Amino acid sequence: MFSTGKAMRKRLFIGLLGISILFLIAVFIIIWWLISRRGLLINKIITNTITAGAVFALFLLAIGFAALIWTLWNSKTAPFMQRIMKTATNTLFPISIVIGKILGWNEDRIKNSFIQVSNHLVKIKNYEEPINNILVLVPHCIQWVHCPHKITIKMSNCKECGKCQVGDLIKLTKTKKINLKVVTGGTLARKSVKELRPGAIVAIACERDLTSGIKDVSGIPVIGVINERPEGPCCNTCVDLHKVEDAINFFLKKGVY
Ligand code: SF4
Repeated sequence: MFSTGKAMRKRLFIGLLGISILFLIAVFIIIWWLISRRGLLINKIITNTITAGAVFALFLLAIGFAALIWTLWNSKTAPFMQRIMKTATNTLFPISIVIGKILGWNEDRIKNSFIQVSNHLVKIKNYEEPINNILVLVPHCIQWVHCPHKITIKMSNCKECGKCQVGDLIKLTKTKKINLKVVTGGTLARKSVKELRPGAIVAIACERDLTSGIKDVSGIPVIGVINERPEGPCCNTCVDLHKVEDAINFFLKKGVY
């Protein structure tokens, strides 16, 4: 069953996926109606080819969407569903964003909903192998904007002075014996993932960066923790450390240490 609390945020994303499927079905029916009015043989061939392709694609998307609903509803998943759910989600997500914007919904709210769904799927997945080598990825904007110490290359440059949460994150990841990386953007985040080859990632970022990051990293489970921006975007951001620790503990329980 959907758990209470976060259920509303998940429903927004699921609702938009459903609307996206209906939208694609409507587009398909209109194209089919227009083309089928013509009597030429070539048009019939084109019509039949497009129809068969579209029916197949819609069928796959509908199966993926149904698998997603089933998975979230039952809080369990099957390995064969993973790929089709991911394909359906990645295909329908951009359409969901456009439809959501037309309906007047805030883009960050929709992306937040996507992140909740993604986190939920990561937590209910059956892990056949133990998870090792956890990486906590943190955006550079969490560092106090006037801090003179460069920490993106060398984390030990941080004096843990308490003016930002970098020191807290260093302490937390040291205690848990896991990797921490502060990155200045998506490119560096991808580079860190390539170099460190983590078994799981706890990613802290804004809705936009988390959404693209989660979609970029395939095959590695990611739990996204949305940051807080009391001074606006990309400046002195912070994060709920309890949520970060919960995410780390989730992966630690799945590993052998
Ligand atoms: S905690 Fe570290 S990164 Fe943050 S302001 Fe102090 S020295 Fe700089």
